[in-house]
Amino acid sequence: MARREWVLGLAVLVLMLGGSGVPPAQAEVLHRPSAARPVAVRANPSPSVPPSRSPTPTAPLPLPIPDHGTGPAGSLRTTGSSAVALTFDDGPWAYTPGVLDLLAQYHIKATFCLIGRQVAAHADLVRRMVAEGHTLCNHTWSHDLLLRTRSPDRIRAELQRTADAIHAVVPGAPIRYFRNPGGNFSAQTVAIAASMGMTSIYWNVDPQDWTRPGVGAIIGNVLSRTGPGAIVLMHDGGGDRSQTMTALRTILPAFVRRFTLIPLPD
Ligand SMILES: [Zn+2]
Repeated sequence: MARREWVLGLAVLVLMLGGSGVPPAQAEVLHRPSAARPVAVRANPSPSVPPSRSPTPTAPLPLPIPDHGTGPAGSLRTTGSSAVALTFDDGPWAYTPGVLDLLAQYHIKATFCLIGRQVAAHADLVRRMVAEGHTLCNHTWSHDLLLRTRSPDRIRAELQRTADAIHAVVPGAPIRYFRNPGGNFSAQTVAIAASMGMTSIYWNVDPQDWTRPGVGAIIGNVLSRTGPGAIVLMHDGGGDRSQTMTALRTILPAFVRRFTLIPLPD
């Protein structure tokens, strides 16, 4: 009997430990992505990958651990004032017009980190961003999550090709910011961006909306974690962003009541 109880106890322990369904090592990578952890590569899906083939889990993930104060040396982690900056990655994309409409409705200026290879097909959206006072950010040509492992020449080419594509649409528009795909910055990508006149932007609020954790989870994460000076990371591209769109309808009016919203300064 004692042996059967011991086996039963062990089974219960295994169930408890394995209850999340996410192996600890994987959970660590998913929930604590940070350039401060050199080996961590965020599983941010490439916009070219259909949602069904992305690593998006089917069950809602637990809220990520706040990563205030992380990010690579030399990167922007807060706005430097009490104002809050909303940033959108992975566009221009099918959801970008809806995001622009909502921002206009609430008179909010934001910052858009654009993927170069998507710019020409959505040139009108890039023109609209500039015309409506939003700030542009370079998110590389191909959204290479392993950018940090590439040669300096290749990193520079990813950034230059994107800048050229943007300037073909909006000549002379300032592009003062760079965000590494997946947030996988390295000292080298930050330095190369700086040599090309771009400040690297990190964030300190990340609801991981690209994982589609549910509208309520996105709203709860953003509203509970955003404080004065926050840089908030969300996505207008990279797949089905309908949850992000719905969440913004609650987040934006709340933001307007609580904060001054700014685009990152050009
Ligand atoms: Zn991205």
